[in-house]
Amino acid sequence: MTSYWVRVALDVPLEAVFDYRVPEGMPVCRGQRVIVPFGGKQEIIGVIVNVLTQTDIPPEKQKDVINVLDDLPPFSEQWLQFCEFAAQYYMRPIGEVILPVLPPPLRKITAYTGKTKTSPVERLDKKLANQVIRAEKEQKKRLKQQQSSGSETTIEASIKPLQAILLALNDEQQQAVDVISQAKKFTPILLHGVTGSGKTEVYLQAIAHVLAEGKQAIFLVPEINLTPQFERLLIERFVPLYGERAIAIMHSSLSDGERLSSWLHMQRQEVKVILGTRMSIFAPLENLGLIIVDEEHDASYKQQDGLRYSARDLAVWRAHQLNIPIVLGSATPSLETWHHTLSGKYQKLSLTQRAKETPLPCIKLVNTKKMRLNQGLSADLISAIDERLQRGEQSMIYLNRRGFAPVLRCSSCGWTSECMRCSVHTVLHQVPGQVPILQCHHCGYSTQVPTHCPECGNVDLSALGYGTQRLEDTLMRLFPEARVKRIDADSTRLKGSAQELFQQVHSGDVDIIVGTQMLSKGHDFKRLSLVGVLNADMMLFSGDFRAPERLFAQLMQVAGRAGRHIRDSDVLLQTEYPDHHLYQALISHDYDSFANQTLMERKMAHLPPFAHQVLITAQAKDVEQALAFLQSIIQYAKQYLEERLKGVEIYDPVPLKIVRIAHIERAQLLIESVSRPALHRFMNVWLHHIYHELRTHKVKYFVEVDPLSI
Ligand code: ADP
Ligand code: ZN
Repeated sequence: MTSYWVRVALDVPLEAVFDYRVPEGMPVCRGQRVIVPFGGKQEIIGVIVNVLTQTDIPPEKQKDVINVLDDLPPFSEQWLQFCEFAAQYYMRPIGEVILPVLPPPLRKITAYTGKTKTSPVERLDKKLANQVIRAEKEQKKRLKQQQSSGSETTIEASIKPLQAILLALNDEQQQAVDVISQAKKFTPILLHGVTGSGKTEVYLQAIAHVLAEGKQAIFLVPEINLTPQFERLLIERFVPLYGERAIAIMHSSLSDGERLSSWLHMQRQEVKVILGTRMSIFAPLENLGLIIVDEEHDASYKQQDGLRYSARDLAVWRAHQLNIPIVLGSATPSLETWHHTLSGKYQKLSLTQRAKETPLPCIKLVNTKKMRLNQGLSADLISAIDERLQRGEQSMIYLNRRGFAPVLRCSSCGWTSECMRCSVHTVLHQVPGQVPILQCHHCGYSTQVPTHCPECGNVDLSALGYGTQRLEDTLMRLFPEARVKRIDADSTRLKGSAQELFQQVHSGDVDIIVGTQMLSKGHDFKRLSLVGVLNADMMLFSGDFRAPERLFAQLMQVAGRAGRHIRDSDVLLQTEYPDHHLYQALISHDYDSFANQTLMERKMAHLPPFAHQVLITAQAKDVEQALAFLQSIIQYAKQYLEERLKGVEIYDPVPLKIVRIAHIERAQLLIESVSRPALHRFMNVWLHHIYHELRTHKVKYFVEVDPLSI
């Protein structure tokens, strides 16, 4: 009898291999989920990544696989290879990739009942099974509502053939659909379309081609809030043709039951299109023909903890692996993507006109340098809002800062409100009907608002600056007859509330919308003809080299909400620096010149995309420890890894701008190279030594490949 072992991917923060002995007669293969013992008495779920005929684990330390879970077919080779690539690229153990993308019930031992040691576990726990049933009922109900929601096109959709609901494409759209649907091999395509140019219709028709060939598609969107709007479109198009399982959704605010239900249908390949946020790039679909990444420049595609991956970048790799086309859509592509189109690596398709008969909105700069503002609002903006109210149109005021005021200050001694746990100010939150509080936006800590200065006893405390709550307040006082709604992380905390607010805006029950970034993306508001932008200057001079790119994209996005269906729409941007080249490019809607100039600056400064970066962040009780640790690993690299360091640069460690969050202090270290292979080769060796020889329990560290903000 040959003995077998299996190497199992586990979601534990240890960089070790986990080999288990396979009991005689237990059939095992790569890609199966197994229950294995871990630590003392724990049992956990892992995924077999290798079947072995030998192991380095000494016999006395070997443990047996407890059981193989056969409630799902094993993961496919292509899916496993994709996860393995992600692990290797982002320099993390494979278990940290595979397990977290599974719906919790498939990786939590508590979801399984039965005597795991004796009988094969086939059934999910009853409670969970019920959750799945409930999720499926909900889905059915939504489908029904969808199909009878009074919208004529949807009723027709279910009876008329597909052609009936396809919009007649303009020439640029048609060309884009043709190119995408004729691309059979790996073809990365940038769909560069101005806001409102009808990118969605291009995606939908490209998907239709792929489905007609019997293949599947992944459709990534940056935000959970955008899924319902696209889900509706996808259902309307494809459910009549491919049945009610055709569309599945994947994002983090689904219930366990919903996530599990989606996943099961995907793994059984019943799903045609998976729509969702970044995690959807891990959808276990076997027969993909197309991947779409909408708003590809969006920072939400980057995961900020655990495996710090970019779903956009992984999407390109997955398309490459599967030899299929991938469409990256944006009005303001990331400079990485733009760079690839200039170098010919990616193909560029442009939509230069708005799809409807409406021109792009007129962007005007309001110079506020010497102006007296009314609670942050210029007279020009106030009268523009008034005009819209007269005409029964909507206005949107964009301010990327939530809360009432960013800091509370004592006018006598200069005391300012600070978080006890972080090196930042606490933000005043104040809405009618609620007790005002001071809240930290970094750790969530909140306190009551003091009645007098804790330093000098003065009772005259003033709220400095303004956030969305104060803006809402001001607008309600300026326009008492208007219906004002605020949409930000605070007003949408409850499940479903964002959906409800957006619905109110769509149905015309709102005159003035106040909000943060949440508003800027993808929404197609029919009656919106004015966008006001406050405080954009705040980001103009930030130290981060990507700040201008991000600001330009954000402003184009918000501006793009205006006048999608109404002529004579305006965007008023208040600034003290109207001559800045970023604003100048913005008012002429000239992404190309902004991108080209910024790329040139990056090239001169040897910054991405002309260099590749890895960031190591160290956390400790005080920043000195973190810095000392980073110094020690640099020392090690210089002493022992000199050969491999060739072509790789390590910068000096520095404390983070916000050095302390929740009592933990942080410092970071940037590693850079023009050669990605050199960088990865060096990092792999170095990280191995750091983990096994230099680690201390006082300092935690994590590694980020292609960091977005440094
Ligand atoms: P984008 O995603 O490029 O910002 P959308 O896809 O939201 O733009 O399209 C903007 C609007 O134009 C939508 O209301 C859409 O229905 C409409 N539209 C798209 N293509 C066409 C077309 N070919 N003819 C008429 N209207 C169109
Ligand atoms: Zn805090």
